[in-house]
Amino acid sequence: MKEELKVFTDIATALLDDEQVCPVVKPINPNDLFNSLDLNLESEGISSEAFQAILKKLVLASPRTTTKRFFNQLFGGRNNISTLGDLIAVLLNNVMHTYKVSGPMVGVEKVMIEKICSLVGYSDNSGGAMAPGGSMTNLMGIIMGRDHYNKDIRVTGVKKTMVAYTSRESHYSISKNASFVGIGRENVRHVDSDDKGIMIPEALEKQINLDLERGYAPFFVNATAGTTVLGAFDPLEAIGKIAKKYNLWFHVDGAYCGSVIFSDKYKHLVNGSSLADSFTFNGHKMLGTPATCSFIVVKNKQHLYSSFSNDATYLYQMNSDDYNLGKTSLQCGRRNDGLKMWALWKSVGHSGLAEIIDQQFYLAEIARKYISDNEDYTLYSHPDSISVCFNYKNYDPSILTSELYKAGHLMVGHGTFRSDTFIRLVTINYGNTETEILEFFEILESFAESLS
Ligand SMILES: *Cc1c(COP(=O)(O)O)cnc(C)c1O
Repeated sequence: MKEELKVFTDIATALLDDEQVCPVVKPINPNDLFNSLDLNLESEGISSEAFQAILKKLVLASPRTTTKRFFNQLFGGRNNISTLGDLIAVLLNNVMHTYKVSGPMVGVEKVMIEKICSLVGYSDNSGGAMAPGGSMTNLMGIIMGRDHYNKDIRVTGVKKTMVAYTSRESHYSISKNASFVGIGRENVRHVDSDDKGIMIPEALEKQINLDLERGYAPFFVNATAGTTVLGAFDPLEAIGKIAKKYNLWFHVDGAYCGSVIFSDKYKHLVNGSSLADSFTFNGHKMLGTPATCSFIVVKNKQHLYSSFSNDATYLYQMNSDDYNLGKTSLQCGRRNDGLKMWALWKSVGHSGLAEIIDQQFYLAEIARKYISDNEDYTLYSHPDSISVCFNYKNYDPSILTSELYKAGHLMVGHGTFRSDTFIRLVTINYGNTETEILEFFEILESFAESLS
């Protein structure tokens, strides 16, 4: 392995150097992909020199999501300590189903889950788990909700029309997961949101009553902490009260912005989180760990065991359930996604995590101010969001963003809310400063002028 580590250092150094001068690599057109890189697999192997050269070329041709010019997704930037943690996790390859195989890495997860439970506002009976992504933790939420409605469904399957509620602006995984768990996509109600993309609690209650009148079984409501396009926060207190009144499982999808629980300044955005039966967030979004790093915590950990534990004598041969994390996981073998987050948390402390969150809101404020002070721009976003949505003059946002990428200037995407389509600048890379945000606009403006 020491040889490979040398190769790693060589390729990594080349990448880091090149990122400085070329933060956006021009995209390869999919039609040219197999001509421009040697990706073919042959029956015979190749020399290690040839292999290393091809690998390096592949690395240098790949999109750069960790540089200061990447604003395209709900992640960005590179946290060095967290990356180190993940590299070590790969080297060790502890698979997280049993204590026997993962040892102290179980402690790494448990200590974080305990802290997260207390930040969400849960007490002693709470617990949690990790899964490969927010779509998967949302899946765990809806499964627990389904089994909470009727535990026999695990055995008999769904017999009734069960209905789930989520806002129009919520992530697509809610509907997709409803199809996976036998609820059916058409039994997901997309509740109306207000002008800011925030779910309207009265509309939720009205819809629940309509479904009850039809003889359906409402069982689950999802609230979003940070909607995918506008970054809006649904009102957890109001939704939590309705969930309690109708005995629905209350899940909070905080994949994008649930990490505000770490910031004294912004945790008020998830006031009422303790009412949730389950709460999820992605460390690989706001906290900047490498992908994936997703947590779900539950108010009563018994639900994790009821829905996910399975006996298997070929696997569970030692230690109590409490230390065999496979008993509360979606899958069997699971990557060690905890170490990257623990490494970061251990190194910067809770206050360091809070600074990461606060910096993103600060950068969003700078961007919003620039936009509202400049009459060539239209702003579509609101305070308390790190998704800054806008249009520049009359440029078509989808053309402008794709041309910016093809020319190798910026990676930024576009989004739609109601009838408006706009550029979505996500200020999630906390390594950026005011300078990079102002440069973003400078690049965009001069490029737009060059198009016309
Ligand atoms: C990103 C996101 C998800 C999905 O998370 P993955 O880790 O990409 O699977 C779910 N919900 C919301 C609100 C998101 O922003």
